[in-house]
Amino acid sequence: MISDYKKEIYQKLGISEEVYEYGEKVWNSLSSRWAQIDELSEYNQLKVIGAMQKNQVSEACLLGTTGYGYNDLGRETLEKVYADVFHTQDALVRPQITCGTHALALALMSNLRPGDELLSPVGKPYDTLEEVIGIRPSKGSLAEYGIHYTQVDLLPDGGFDYDGIRKAINPQTKLVTIQRSKGYQTRPTLSVQRIGELIRFIKEQKPDIICMVDNCYGEFTEREEPSDVGADLVVGSLIKNPGGGLAPIGGYLAGRKECIENAAYRLTSPGLGKEVGASLTALPAFYQGLFLAPSVTANALKAAIFAANLYEGLGFSVIPDGKEPRHDIIQAVTFGNPEGVIAFCQGIQQAAAVDGHVTPEPWDMPGYDSPVIMAAGAFVSGSSIELSADGPIKPPYSVYFQGGLTWQHGKFGIMKSMQKLVEKGIILKDFIKRNL
Ligand SMILES: *Cc1c(COP(=O)(O)O)cnc(C)c1O
Repeated sequence: MISDYKKEIYQKLGISEEVYEYGEKVWNSLSSRWAQIDELSEYNQLKVIGAMQKNQVSEACLLGTTGYGYNDLGRETLEKVYADVFHTQDALVRPQITCGTHALALALMSNLRPGDELLSPVGKPYDTLEEVIGIRPSKGSLAEYGIHYTQVDLLPDGGFDYDGIRKAINPQTKLVTIQRSKGYQTRPTLSVQRIGELIRFIKEQKPDIICMVDNCYGEFTEREEPSDVGADLVVGSLIKNPGGGLAPIGGYLAGRKECIENAAYRLTSPGLGKEVGASLTALPAFYQGLFLAPSVTANALKAAIFAANLYEGLGFSVIPDGKEPRHDIIQAVTFGNPEGVIAFCQGIQQAAAVDGHVTPEPWDMPGYDSPVIMAAGAFVSGSSIELSADGPIKPPYSVYFQGGLTWQHGKFGIMKSMQKLVEKGIILKDFIKRNL
């Protein structure tokens, strides 16, 4: 019987019988969700192919340039492809953008001037942005350049505080930053539809405000992107969803021509802008990664939904819950103590194809305000579209799980995490057996 072979190979890789049976039961209960996700990735796959065909991506586009990088056909075409995928006027997609934080910092620093005000109407931004903005004092922050920051928190029920936002907007408010994904928080991720509602409200107050969306982890999780519902600028990392697991570095900005121009002059130099920036050898991975991105993102969504349902069934609090629609690839599971977070991450690491033999420990990572444990056995160092998990060692002791280039790997990773929690006595074998 096929299932016996399957159980055997799982057992060979350290999954006990009860964990395997429990995982299979959860997985098999989700077939209608899998069908919806396949529909989504089919749609987005065609969107990407359509953009590549429209811009006549050719073999010559895969060759890179060196030196100044003038007349880089592959770079220029790729930026047109991104602009078409996101339905924007222009895009900046570069290996010189080192990561998501850099892409976001670039967007902010190039579109804001001294005296301007930046507003976050969705509460505290991602941890690393605290130093970019200067919420935590930091060298080179926006605050050092005289750019002010205001924040309006979400309401306790997760809704937008429209009154507070109206009051916060003033003549200096130049740019609004909206984070789509929850990041290291337990608030809900914003759907593209909700982002559209927020942008409409903000533009009603002050039509010339630049609405920027931190799109990290959100790309291709829905049919529409924030740029389809009014965002002037969407920003993200190529070692997350849009790089499809193949991009070895990079970030992107897509948006209004003027916003992208500002960013290009800041990334390279006034006077040079988009015209320079050699693509070196990055282009084949950027193109092929974008081509694979809808499918890879779908696999990561399947892994996240599996994790939600499995841990929910085991009695842990999970965000999003097992049934909710998805707007990013992140799954939060709350353990309430450091041991659970550490065991979970160690289990994920043990599922890795690269560095599966190493044991992660919490450490003080630059840009974060508490120790963080990271499970990251990745082909691309630190890539979080690959199977990975991060847990800041602070209350409520939640772990943030994401990625999986293939759903098979994501499923195995979650089973390994459960196995580790069983071995540490955090999940009881009897409980599993009673719930088979
Ligand atoms: C990952 C992430 C960032 C920062 O990206 P890095 O590539 O880690 O610098 C910013 N915002 C959100 C919501 C993210 O998920």
